[in-house]
Amino acid sequence: MQGVGFRPFVHALATGLNLRGFVANRGGRVEIEVEGPPDALDRFERELTASAPPLARIESIATRLANPRGDADFRIAESRAGQGTTVYISPDAATCDACLIELLDPADRRYRYPFINCTACGPRLTIITGSPYDRERTTMDAFEMCERCRAEYTDPSDRRFHAEPIACPACGPRLDAIDLDAEGRAVAGDPIAAAVLDLRLGRILAVKGLGGFHLACDAGNAVAVEELRRRKHRDEKPFAIMLADVDAARSLCMVSAAEAEVLRSPARPIVLLHRRAEGTGPIADAVAPQSTRLGVMLPYTPLHHLIMEASGGLPLVMTSGNRSDEPIAIGNEDARSRLHGIADLLVLHDRDIRVRCDDSVVRLAGAAPVFVRRSRGYAPAPLTLPFECPAEILAVGGQMKNTFALGRDRHAFISHHVGDLDDLLALEAYERDVALYERLFDVTPGAVAHDLHPDYASTRLALGRTGVTLVGVQHHHAHIASCMAEHGLTGDVIGVAWDGAGFGADGHVWGGEFLAGGYSTVTRAAHLRYVAMPGGDRAARDPWRMALAHQQDALVEPAGPSLATVSAVERAAVIRMLARGINAPLTSSAGRLFDAVASLCGLHERTSFEGQAAMSLESLAESSADRAAYAYEILDSDPLVVDTRPMIRAIVADRESHAGAATIARRFHTTLAEIIAAVCLRLRERTGLNRVAVSGGVFLNGILADEVQSRLTALTFEVYQHRLVPPGDGGLSLGQLAVAAARLTDA
Ligand code: ZN
Ligand code: ZN
Ligand code: FE
Repeated sequence: MQGVGFRPFVHALATGLNLRGFVANRGGRVEIEVEGPPDALDRFERELTASAPPLARIESIATRLANPRGDADFRIAESRAGQGTTVYISPDAATCDACLIELLDPADRRYRYPFINCTACGPRLTIITGSPYDRERTTMDAFEMCERCRAEYTDPSDRRFHAEPIACPACGPRLDAIDLDAEGRAVAGDPIAAAVLDLRLGRILAVKGLGGFHLACDAGNAVAVEELRRRKHRDEKPFAIMLADVDAARSLCMVSAAEAEVLRSPARPIVLLHRRAEGTGPIADAVAPQSTRLGVMLPYTPLHHLIMEASGGLPLVMTSGNRSDEPIAIGNEDARSRLHGIADLLVLHDRDIRVRCDDSVVRLAGAAPVFVRRSRGYAPAPLTLPFECPAEILAVGGQMKNTFALGRDRHAFISHHVGDLDDLLALEAYERDVALYERLFDVTPGAVAHDLHPDYASTRLALGRTGVTLVGVQHHHAHIASCMAEHGLTGDVIGVAWDGAGFGADGHVWGGEFLAGGYSTVTRAAHLRYVAMPGGDRAARDPWRMALAHQQDALVEPAGPSLATVSAVERAAVIRMLARGINAPLTSSAGRLFDAVASLCGLHERTSFEGQAAMSLESLAESSADRAAYAYEILDSDPLVVDTRPMIRAIVADRESHAGAATIARRFHTTLAEIIAAVCLRLRERTGLNRVAVSGGVFLNGILADEVQSRLTALTFEVYQHRLVPPGDGGLSLGQLAVAAARLTDA
């Protein structure tokens, strides 16, 4: 990738070993010619990969012998765009240690300068406007480099050689603080001091970051946090917090070595950490109500570091700068208008953000990350595919948590998190960003892959393209193909795809699926029994509806504490829908089963964000050590059908005998893991397949993912779970891409 200090690194390495020759960029490749004694050449080759700069990405090295030219020195040659080579664009990277030292060094000319960066750190994807990546084609084009910056930029031995966003106080972007309460006037004096003062006073800030604005407040100030919730219309969804360092995180949460490493990595994602049993003392309850986990990230821009330093390490709520359901604000004017009434103070600057890029979110499964959201810091680094794309392909992704992907050669470029496409602003950004990526990566799609759901905005975008081959991919097939592709699998697998909802090939709402097959085709080998979803999509927001549906299906009298706040009228309407089958589409969704059980456990009658019921149920189950499982049946049909009615009846009985909700929640998880293991065994008998790819948003659930992993492994299955892209709908685009590539190859 360009602009990550690779050529200067090669230059330094070669001159250090007294080698002569040159290094040059050739499109997505780097060409190096070195001459010198054999042992020095060997050493050069070893060090090339061993000591490469942090943001460089070496996929492969090809070497060949050439006749010495008798070069006098080692130089960095002019770059040329290579023919038909792949373009790489670096993800954004957190402020590196070297820059951090300069930032806090009073003798440095960039002392306390909030836009310090170098070839190892700073904005990349978020400021890019075109390709190839250089200063002219970034939003830094608006700033004329001063002489001292230019000298660094053009000096191959400098660590800012070709650092495209290079800047200093004399020539670069400036920070401003705008008081929205005082008719939008700029605050006099140091904007950082103003920001910290306001944080201490319990006011709410909008802070411009790498990929958009954050809303920030003192995470220890309950009044401020509750006020932020009220203004943002965000009822219960947990807020992420920013802490000064890993030690601060350790004081609140359990932090494993692997978690510490991810927290500190240049990508600096939000890491979901387990709170300490004794509680998270200074953090207000309203930050993450009813959650045993806390989303934590460390400062990743110089501005964050300066605020942290000036505030003495105040723990901050850092949540995306938007009203609920809208995309995060990126423009200064946009922020002024859309965040008016939410933020009191705007801390902004004049370096424009081109690509809206939310914070990434991961949880750790052992030492391996599981992506809840793959975005800033990771996108658009490519994934290597186990096959060659027969054409340039655009995969448009799904509707919720959208990402899209471009396929070319053996690479998939998966976009940042675009988000839910229900919102008009998000949809506009989506169309703009698809066009931008096509330009950046020099891809002209000959094929466009999409979901089968006719009402997805992404499907409509695909169908609107002319002169391309359209490839419709069933939702759960895409989930499984995504998992296969990231693990480099070819051939056939058993696929376990459990999620909230996906358009099924029979027109019903699928979501508890077992598939058998590979990239080109799959068959539906088993699924959870269909139940009605009274009110259609409403049922996804009102778990009580699914509780009624499952109880009615299991022929138990609907009752219980879970229906306390549902009016008799509403309840009667739903019972009528169920009895007559009106406005009650059928679903095999595992996500809706979680909803039903959460409601039966008395957790939620209504939810305010997707996955909330399942998250609460998981948190609840963590507090129980019960190992029992409920009964279920597998009907020997084709496809197999998993009948969960015995479990529903047992749960109702457990509740009536006053078994604790945590026990029920735990038994439910155990039962699901047993079901998956039992069905996989049956499918192995039927198909002879021994590899299981596990996908779908349900597997963000750590208990279920771990149990499934250990049970299937104990049964000698080879188990594959997502480690590079999200198991949820953010991973769909990769799967669609893989299916399209396979079908085009077969055709
Ligand atoms: Zn740096
Ligand atoms: Zn300068
Ligand atoms: Fe899905």
